[in-house]
Amino acid sequence: MGTKTDILVIGAGSIGVNSAYFLAERGLKVTLLDKDDVCASTSWGNAGLLVPSHSLPLASPGVISQGLRWMFNAKSPFYVKARFSLSLWLWLWKFRAACTAKHQREGAVVLREISEKSMELYNSFDDLGDFEFHLERKGIIFLYATQDGYQHGIEDIGLLRDIGLEVVDMDRNQVAEKLGGVDTTAIGGTYFPGDAHLAPADFVKGLASKAKSVGVEIKTDTQVNSFQTKGRKIVAANTNHGMIYADQFVLAAGSWSPEIANTLGLSIPIQPAKGYSVSYPRPEKSLNMPVMLSEAKTAVTPMGNILRVGGTLELVGMDLSINQKRVESLVQAAKTFFPKIEFDSLPIIKTWAGLRPTTPDGLPLVGRPKGFDNLVIAAGHSMMGISTGPGTGLLVAQEINEEKQFMPTEMFDPNRFN
Ligand SMILES: Cc1cc2nc3c(=O)[nH]c(=O)nc-3n(C[C@H](O)[C@H](O)[C@H](O)COP(=O)(O)OP(=O)(O)OC[C@H]3O[C@@H](n4cnc5c(N)ncnc54)[C@H](O)[C@@H]3O)c2cc1C
Repeated sequence: MGTKTDILVIGAGSIGVNSAYFLAERGLKVTLLDKDDVCASTSWGNAGLLVPSHSLPLASPGVISQGLRWMFNAKSPFYVKARFSLSLWLWLWKFRAACTAKHQREGAVVLREISEKSMELYNSFDDLGDFEFHLERKGIIFLYATQDGYQHGIEDIGLLRDIGLEVVDMDRNQVAEKLGGVDTTAIGGTYFPGDAHLAPADFVKGLASKAKSVGVEIKTDTQVNSFQTKGRKIVAANTNHGMIYADQFVLAAGSWSPEIANTLGLSIPIQPAKGYSVSYPRPEKSLNMPVMLSEAKTAVTPMGNILRVGGTLELVGMDLSINQKRVESLVQAAKTFFPKIEFDSLPIIKTWAGLRPTTPDGLPLVGRPKGFDNLVIAAGHSMMGISTGPGTGLLVAQEINEEKQFMPTEMFDPNRFN
């Protein structure tokens, strides 16, 4: 007993929903399932930035020494919980190996390519106008509190300029003008005109409805616990609602992907990297565009009627508890940069934690793992799963439909760590 589909997509976040949509657009019969609901996890409360400007992978030269300095500060934007976890130590080992200038440059090129394709796809969804997701193409400004931070930022951004990204350095006055008159203590900034932002949950849920209208069957509260296999083939997924048989399977379960892959005997090196956000009703006099508070690694994004402050990166395992100290330091950074926005008098809509699915080299896993002929993994998008969601969905659909992919995918090979 059970149900049958052509393609079963596991996980209904940004990556799974995009994959299901682009597969169904090709006339394939798709079932998309999630243990919770559509967009109930990391794709919900993130900062909503579409950032080719973030194309530098997390693994880059200098990040380890910076990380070590931050590790011992309870309010810092980065934290690793020291614990005995073989998968964490192996991950850190591989992360260290990926922190080279060569990897940073090569990674930046492919991340830029997939984000720019995604931007093109977001623009076409917006032009179609089937659902509202508050896409705004105003760019983003990285703001600096100190001369040191500014200098550091300009150095980091050098590589992005080298790979052709448009960047404009701004002094204090230019920043104030760009922000439309909101008072800021920033001493300067760098402006990325090619970036954009949106309300992530509105997009993912809107696209899921559109996917449904082109035939995708969506099953919520449906958890994959294991699989039935035959040789190099997965035959069915065993869920809490029975077996679902399919010809092809897409694993797009974000930070949960390793535990699901384990049931197939596959090991995929993804660590959950926890971050927080606080959402407020957007005050009348507030930011007109998103900013990144560089030293504090905190994003402030106006999205629709919401103003969201988000950031921090904690390697603490599958733990969604909220560390109030870190949340307070996120909000404090926003208060310091924008003293006239009265955060304290705004009611909090939601304080949220999410788990970024993070690979050691900062690049996603998109492709077929060795061992199974009818499985595609699409996970590990770390800090860029919204920026790269549509591009990933398209790559998955092109792989399964045996089309030429729009970009080379060797650097996303899920077998590269084996
Ligand atoms: C604070 C913060 C800010 C961020 N800001 C940005 C940003 O500005 N721009 C950007 O591009 N990215 C950003 N990100 C990263 C982005 O949110 C993630 O990369 C992206 O959401 C990952 O999407 P996903 O679909 O892989 O995972 P998820 O959205 O987590 O989806 C995975 C789904 O799989 C489901 N699932 C898990 N296990 C099972 C199972 N056994 N059976 C069935 N279903 C299962 C889960 O319920 C979940 O719904 C941010 C992240 C954080 C934490």
